[in-house]
Amino acid sequence: MQQNPDQRIQFEICRQYDGVGMTSPRKRQKLITQLQAQGALKTTKVADVMNMIPRHLFVDPAFSHRSYEDCALPIGHEQTISHPSTVAIMTEWLLSDANNPVRKVLEIGTGSGYQTAILSALCDKVYTVERIPDLSRQAQEKLQQLQAGNVEFFTADGHWGLPGYAPFDAIISAASPETLPYELVEQLKIGGRLVMPIGSHPQHLYGFIRHQDRLEQVALGDVSFVPMRKGVAQ
Ligand code: SAH
Repeated sequence: MQQNPDQRIQFEICRQYDGVGMTSPRKRQKLITQLQAQGALKTTKVADVMNMIPRHLFVDPAFSHRSYEDCALPIGHEQTISHPSTVAIMTEWLLSDANNPVRKVLEIGTGSGYQTAILSALCDKVYTVERIPDLSRQAQEKLQQLQAGNVEFFTADGHWGLPGYAPFDAIISAASPETLPYELVEQLKIGGRLVMPIGSHPQHLYGFIRHQDRLEQVALGDVSFVPMRKGVAQ
């Protein structure tokens, strides 16, 4: 089948990866219901997409029986796939402004590619940056399996964003810098949204909205992400 270069991830393709038992659609649905009850998932739009993407595809097979628990799991190279509840909170916040439709998004910290897959299903174009080449390659393979045609992968230090592709409607980071990298703010369009953890001990999740003359900051709770490291890994 010819793949449309701009194609978002589709339901019919995801269904081909339905598992059984602990990786079954029923287990995934239970997790989604739990995230809705908790308030992490607020809209049916994001809930439907999280209910569609097979998270077990992005998890180390040794842990696939835990794919539909609300926990972070190892993905190799001392990194982790994020908690589903955190993915839900960040995605909901990013998409919650009707006046700022998120068509073009920058992701920092591709990791397993799970959040990337969710963005592929919700946005027109996803640019994703990872500093560990092996993780980027593996994520790329998964996204190809799901026939995501609207994602571009970069192996680079995400501190700098992707100035050549800016401005973005939204930026999301799963790696935590000590302070806000101002380069990222500059790559947001006016009205654009940035969601990312900042700090280490303690670490908080923040949302930022770029207005014409100021940056609005919203605290979104305590989280536990890996640090944003400098440079590309060898
Ligand atoms: N959303 C991903 C999260 C992976 S953990 C998932 O759910 O799988 C965060 C990722 O950020 C790690 O893969 C780590 O290697 C990456 N990272 C850390 N510092 C980075 C940097 N400066 N630039 C790009 N990626 C970075």
